[in-house]
Amino acid sequence: MTLRQKQGLILLLTVVGLVLALWHPNVVVMAAGIMLLLAASLLYLVWMRCPECGAWFGKYPGDYCKDCGAKIPWDEKTKRNL
Ligand SMILES: [Zn+2]
Repeated sequence: MTLRQKQGLILLLTVVGLVLALWHPNVVVMAAGIMLLLAASLLYLVWMRCPECGAWFGKYPGDYCKDCGAKIPWDEKTKRNL
């Protein structure tokens, strides 16, 4: 999976989680939505990191790492298992 695909997956989880948590009448489904939101934040913390130095991208990831200046390989499949 490329970083861009991971970012898309996180966005999808966030949107689905938000919709369920805010608009679903069933409390159990709402709780599931909140879990999805938590999972999305967790994945964001784990996945959105610089492959060179491991620094977190932060809220607005750009094309280059803010920490070490390495180019972020958005469309490259990472060899590391994260
Ligand atoms: Zn870096």
